[in-house]
Amino acid sequence: MKRKLSILGATGSIGGSTLDLVERHPDRFEVVALTAASKVAELADAARRGGARLAVIGDGALLPELEQRLAGTNCRAATGRDALIEAATSADLIMAAIVGCAGLEPVMAAVEAGKTVALANKEALVTAGALMIDSATRNGATILPVDSEHNAIFQCLAGSRSKEIARLILTASGGPFRSHSLTGMRAMTPEQAVAHPNWTMGAKISVDSATMMNKGLELIEAHHLFGLPSDRIDILVHPQSVIHSMVEYIDGSLLAQLGSPDMRIPIAYALAWPERIESGAARLDLTQIATLTFETPDPERFPALRLARAALEAGGAAPTVLNAANEVAVAAFLDRRIGFGDIALLVEQTLERTSAPAPRSIDEVIDIDERARHTARQLMTALAA
Ligand code: NAD
Ligand code: MG
Repeated sequence: MKRKLSILGATGSIGGSTLDLVERHPDRFEVVALTAASKVAELADAARRGGARLAVIGDGALLPELEQRLAGTNCRAATGRDALIEAATSADLIMAAIVGCAGLEPVMAAVEAGKTVALANKEALVTAGALMIDSATRNGATILPVDSEHNAIFQCLAGSRSKEIARLILTASGGPFRSHSLTGMRAMTPEQAVAHPNWTMGAKISVDSATMMNKGLELIEAHHLFGLPSDRIDILVHPQSVIHSMVEYIDGSLLAQLGSPDMRIPIAYALAWPERIESGAARLDLTQIATLTFETPDPERFPALRLARAALEAGGAAPTVLNAANEVAVAAFLDRRIGFGDIALLVEQTLERTSAPAPRSIDEVIDIDERARHTARQLMTALAA
C-alpha cells in the first residue's frame, strides 16, 4: 500500500529533495497535497508531476495563476490558512518543510490529528517545544526528525533508554566563517553568508549556519526531541560534515552516523522509517576523505550559541523570543538593512527586553512571537539611527 504524503514547503530545498525521493519510489508514496509561499509555476509543475489533489499557494494574489496552470488536472488550487491546515491533515505522512514560525500552525494541526510528521521545520519545534511534544504524546502523533543531526541521533539511539545515554553530541560544520576573525565577519555580505561550504540550503538556514544560530536552534530542537537537559547536549565543530552527530552511552561507547552531506539521506530515512530506501546520495569514500577533524566552537565569534543555550536554560518564553528575533534579524540582514554582527546583537537585546512565562497554548506562542518581532523591529530602528 502506498503512503499518502503531503509536502508543506514543496518548492524549497527540503521540499525539492523530498519530491526527488518520491519520484525515485513511485510504488511507495502517493502525493496528496503540496504547498508553497509564492513559486507558483514550480508548485503547479510539482503538483502535475506528482498527481497531487490539492495545491496551496501562500500568496492569495497568485491563486488565479495557480488555477490556470492546474486546469485540466484533478488538482484543486487553494490559498489561505484553512487550505494549509487541510494540506497538513489530509495525508498519513506530512513533510513539514516550511521555513520559520510560519510553519507552526500546520505542523501543530498535523500533530493534533495524530499524523506522522517528518519535521524539517525546526523553528516550529523551537518556538512551541513542550506544547508540540505534549500534543504528539496525547494524540499519538509520531515526530521523525529530518534535520541531519537529529536524524543521525535518532538512528544512533535505536530505541535506547535515556538512563543509558551519557550525552548527545551535535556536530556543526562551523559554516562559511568558521575561521574568520570577528572583525572580518562583521563585514560579510548576504552573498558570502549564504555560500555554505558543505550544504546547499535555503537562504534563512544558510545565514543561521553562518552565525551558528542554526546549531543553537538545533540544541533546543534536540532537547525537545530526545528529552535531555542542556548540560547533556554538546556541540562539536566538525568541518567536513561527514559525521552528522553522535550519541555517547554510559559505558563509553560513542555511536555516530556518517554519510555524504546530502539531505536526501535523512529525508529518505524519515519517509521510509522504520525501513530504509535508496536515496540517490553519493556513497562516502572514506579513503578519499582520509581525515576527520574536530574543534570546540568559539563562543566569542559565535555569540548565537551562547544566546540559544541561555534561552533553553531560562525556559519560559525565551526560546520563542529567540526564534522570533532571529527571524526578523536574518530577514533584515538578507535585505541589507543590518550588518552580520547585528543579528546576534538584536537577538540578545530582544531577549533582554522580553520576559514572559512559558506559553500554555499555540495562541500564546503566536502572541509572544508577534510581540518579540515588534520589539526586534523597534530595536532595529534604534540601531540604524
Ligand atoms: P527554503 O527557503 O528553501 O524553502 C522554504 C519553503 O517554505 C518554500 O517552499 C517556501 O515556499 C515555503 N514558505 C516560506 N515561507 C512561507 C510562508 N510564510 N508560508 C508558507 N510557506 C512558506 O528552506 P529550506 O532550506 O528547504 O528549509 C526548510 C526548513 O527545513 C527550515 O526550517 C530549515 O531550518 C529546515 N532544514 C533545512 C535543511 C536544508 O538542508 N535545506 C536542513 C535541515 C533543516
Ligand atoms: Mg541541521
